[in-house]
Amino acid sequence: MKKMGFGMMRLPLTDKNDLKSVDLKQINEMVDKYMQAGFNYFDTAYPYHDGASEVALRKAVVERYPRDSFVIADKLPLFLITENEQLEPIFQEQLERCGVEYFDYYLLHNVSAFSEAGFVGVNSFEFALEKKKEGKIKHLGFSTHANAEYIENIIKEHPELEFIQLQINYLDWENDAIESKKCYEVARKYDLPILIMEPLKGGFLVNIPEEAEKLMKEYNDEEPVTWALKYVSSLDGVFMVLNGVSNIEQMEQNIQIMDNLEEITDEEIEIISKVVGIINSQITVPCTKCNYCLSSCPKNINIPKLFDWYNNEKIENNEEFTAVGNAYRNYSKIENNSIASDCIACGLCVKECPQHIDIPEVMKDVKKTFEKPLYGFTKE
Ligand code: SF4
Ligand code: SF4
Repeated sequence: MKKMGFGMMRLPLTDKNDLKSVDLKQINEMVDKYMQAGFNYFDTAYPYHDGASEVALRKAVVERYPRDSFVIADKLPLFLITENEQLEPIFQEQLERCGVEYFDYYLLHNVSAFSEAGFVGVNSFEFALEKKKEGKIKHLGFSTHANAEYIENIIKEHPELEFIQLQINYLDWENDAIESKKCYEVARKYDLPILIMEPLKGGFLVNIPEEAEKLMKEYNDEEPVTWALKYVSSLDGVFMVLNGVSNIEQMEQNIQIMDNLEEITDEEIEIISKVVGIINSQITVPCTKCNYCLSSCPKNINIPKLFDWYNNEKIENNEEFTAVGNAYRNYSKIENNSIASDCIACGLCVKECPQHIDIPEVMKDVKKTFEKPLYGFTKE
C-alpha cells in the first residue's frame, strides 16, 4: 500500500460559507487522479463537513470503483456520544452514508479526556470490538490528541487496538502541548502501526515565513510542503500519512511529492530544527483549522477563520494596511458575521480544541490587531 491517505476533512466547496456544499465534480477528479497514481486509502469521519464527507466518499469512490480496489477509514464520534443507545444507530448511519458493508479501518475518534463521556460508562470500545467480530470492521484503532501519558494508559487498557492515528509534523515534534515525539515513542514502544494526521499542520507548513523557506530552498530547492512530508514519511513504523487536500492542484502536487519522496537526511533534519526556531519566533496561534470548536461558540464566531487571518497578519508583521486586515474589515460588515470583539470569554470552545489553544485569550489580541482605526474601526 502506498503511503499517502486521502484525508476528506477539508474538501473543496461550491459555497465557501456552507460546509456541506462539497464540490463533487472536483472531488471526483481528485479521486481519479489519486487512484490512477496507485493510492487507495480514504479517510473520513462522522462530523467532517457535517456528514457530507462520508456521503462524498460514497458518491466519488464507492459508487465509482470496485470495493476491493480501495480501503476506507471511518471513526466513531466519541465526543457526540453519551449513551449506549446511540452506538448502533450512528454506526449504521455511517455504513449507509458511505454505502458500504464494512470499514477496512475503524477508529475511536479522538480518545482523550475531553471525549470520556463517550467511552467511560458507555461501551464504545466493546461495541467496536463486537463489530469487528461481526466482520463490519477489519482493523480497529483509535485517533487521539491526548498527551503521551494518557495514550499509554489507553493502550495498556485496550490491547485490542491494532493501530493509532497521531498528529505528527516537524513543528509539533517537540511542542509541549502536542507532544508529537513522546506520543510517537509510546506508539513505537507498544509496536502499534502509526497513521499520521496533520503532517502539514492544517496547511500551516505550506506557507512558512520567508526566512525559513529561504533556508530550505537554498539547500535543495524543494518546497516547504515536500520537506514536511519527507519528515513524517521517514519515521519508522508509519504506515500511512493523511493529506487533507482541498483541491485538484493540491492533489496533483501531493501525488508528485509522495511518488518521488526520499528519506530525510541528518543535514535536512538540522535545517528543519532551524526552521522550527524561526517559525516559533513568528507563529502566533497554532490553529490547524480542524473546526472542532465551531459548533461550541454561542456567538457563532468563526474561530479558525479569524485565527488564520491573525497569523497572516502577524507574519507580515508591519503596521501598514494589509489585505488580511481589509478582509477582516469587510467580513465584519456582513450581517450575522461575528468578530473577535463579540467573544464573551465563556471558554466553551477551549475544551473542544485539540491544540489546547486558550481561544478567548487569543481573541483579545485578534481584536487588538484588527479592530483599530487603520482598518476602519472607531475604537481600539
Ligand atoms: S470563548 Fe469566545 S470564541 Fe470561545 S466559545 Fe466563548 S464566545 Fe466563542
Ligand atoms: S481553534 Fe482549535 S478547535 Fe478551533 S479550529 Fe483551531 S485548532 Fe481546531
